[in-house]
Amino acid sequence: MHRAIYLDHHATTPLAPEARAAMLPFLDEEYGNPSSTGHELGRRAARALEEAREVVASAVGARRGEVIFTSGATESDNLAILGAARALRGRGDHVVTCATEHRAVLDACAQLEREGFRVTVLPVESNGVLDLERLERAIDDHTVLVSLMHGNNEIGVLHDLAGAAERCHRRGALLHSDATQALGRLPLDLQALGVDLLSITAHKAYGPKGVGALVARGGFEALQLAPLFHGGGQEGRVRPGTQNTIGIAGFAAACALIPSRLAPDAARAQRQSREFLARLRAVAADLVVHGDLERRLPGNLNLRFPGLAARALMERLPELALSAGAACHSGSAHPSHVLAALGLDAEQARCAVRIGFGRTTTDDDVERAAASFERALRELRPRATRA
Ligand SMILES: *Cc1c(COP(=O)(O)O)cnc(C)c1O
Repeated sequence: MHRAIYLDHHATTPLAPEARAAMLPFLDEEYGNPSSTGHELGRRAARALEEAREVVASAVGARRGEVIFTSGATESDNLAILGAARALRGRGDHVVTCATEHRAVLDACAQLEREGFRVTVLPVESNGVLDLERLERAIDDHTVLVSLMHGNNEIGVLHDLAGAAERCHRRGALLHSDATQALGRLPLDLQALGVDLLSITAHKAYGPKGVGALVARGGFEALQLAPLFHGGGQEGRVRPGTQNTIGIAGFAAACALIPSRLAPDAARAQRQSREFLARLRAVAADLVVHGDLERRLPGNLNLRFPGLAARALMERLPELALSAGAACHSGSAHPSHVLAALGLDAEQARCAVRIGFGRTTTDDDVERAAASFERALRELRPRATRA
């Protein structure tokens, strides 16, 4: 069977060979528990854990003491939002987020609402960009936390985090950012961004699934986050439970590749997505791109051919691994909340296809994918407008 051309790098990425190799010793002889430091096996695990923490920290411009390991970005988002808001309850009861956030953020905020917090969900412009004036107006004296993602997982649109951080800090609110899609795709510097809490996950950056991190600028001591789990002293008591040494070793190895791979990966993905878009526009002049094309993650496209349902198109493209709307929602009948926030109606959203180019996408993949689209479009829309 021919390998499908993988164009779904926002859903997950293939494991880097370097990450796989780094995990193997921890699956075999290095099975020590990093908390069991009474013997050499445990001490080696503890040392490996702290070395991994250092590498992950440096990938986001942080220090070792500013990073705790979690099971992934969903947990990191929940820990940041529930943990910070609950801890700051005495200071205020208001949280601000945005309509295009990942479900992990929106659903954690909905939980806060059930606990009596007030939650403001900011709308975006039709290009997916958040107007910072709106953010500024939404923050009041009771706002303890703002949560805004870095790059959007569906439409790739970027938020101006440094601008948001400045507005949050002026009013004494913390800024959390889900930077899952930015890790490895954009330079990330916690200090420069001024973000207080940052969520990342390994499997969107060529590491393994089931491991991620929450990063706190200035460390966790000062924040006193309310933990989600109870049961041990690991990860500064913020996230108890024996660490996933296997996954963490893979996560760190994937992060160690970022300094040398980020620029060439981003440049190639950017070029490939532009070339691909130009090819599609040549056969479908009515193609609509969702979200701003400039303020966007490199390698992301989210588009529709008006009147052509994504399902019908994807059935004609079995050799391509693509997502219709958001991957988290395919299988569900609900249209994407992100596309709805851009003002798309259900019918338009049903036509949306997300394409994500990544490190392993070759120019030949792009050529073949474009040729497949051209053929499918000719078959499905024989009378469609041509450029
Ligand atoms: C994938 C993703 C998540 C969820 O990450 P997991 O590690 O799979 O829990 C959260 N936020 C964004 C923006 C994502 O793209």
